[in-house]
Amino acid sequence: MAPDDDAVQKLISAAKATLRNLPPEVTAEGTHCVSAACLSQDSRIFTGINVSHFTGGPCAEPVAIGSAAASGVLPADLLLMVAVKRVHNDRDPAMKVINPCGRCRQQMFDLNSDIDVIVVDELGTENVVCVKELLPYAYVWKKERNQKVVERAVE
Ligand SMILES: [Zn+2]
Repeated sequence: MAPDDDAVQKLISAAKATLRNLPPEVTAEGTHCVSAACLSQDSRIFTGINVSHFTGGPCAEPVAIGSAAASGVLPADLLLMVAVKRVHNDRDPAMKVINPCGRCRQQMFDLNSDIDVIVVDELGTENVVCVKELLPYAYVWKKERNQKVVERAVE
């Protein structure tokens, strides 16, 4: 079931509040500039922020998923995800929804292929789409992993 507009706006607000409430010293060096929020089936919201690092620190989305897991909510129990980014160095309202990167799309797809994601089009209009729509012809990690197990069992 697609989330209603209230849930969408509430989740965007939660992601923005997380980013807005970061102390300036946390955001000063650009290490943390994106916030993500996810909604669970039992209506809880979990947030996370990215960790930008030259070794490939995580985006905000997997951090939010990990935050939910730390509270006992599995990825399969998540309904909706959003990420927001500060547009300039200002505080709210200079924040906007951003689309998940390719790696996050794959992670969300592998962990919960039914999760909905709030995305924006070229005009900045927000839409809710299933992660499956963000990965046509997707690589199915679980399927490939299981196939390897079967192949090993046959050898
Ligand atoms: Zn990402």
